[in-house]
Amino acid sequence: MPPKGGNKKADLRACLICSYLQSSSDFLNSGCPNCEDILNMQDDPNRVAECTSTMWDGMIAMINPEESWVARWQRIDKRSRGIYAVRVTGRPPSDVIEAIEARGGVYRPRDAVED
Ligand SMILES: [Zn+2]
Repeated sequence: MPPKGGNKKADLRACLICSYLQSSSDFLNSGCPNCEDILNMQDDPNRVAECTSTMWDGMIAMINPEESWVARWQRIDKRSRGIYAVRVTGRPPSDVIEAIEARGGVYRPRDAVED
């Protein structure tokens, strides 16, 4: 299902790590479905503000992550179904980037589309 309505954008925030889109209250209630073990945003409004951004462009509905060429392009084929932003402007706190690298991952800024 595509996102409903055209005026919801202002209510949504995008995760700076994976571009997952949801409302700030959803981030506050349940964190990011992909990155919560690193970000620990649940019940922490300051952390939500640090690790998500209202400055994002485009929306992708990810229904079948394994099959979608868009998912491969966005490098989110291993991530949860849902709505993702195409571009997100902002940088997470350095401790987040360090936590990702400590797990053997690579932080990729979401504000540039590279290939
Ligand atoms: Zn995330």
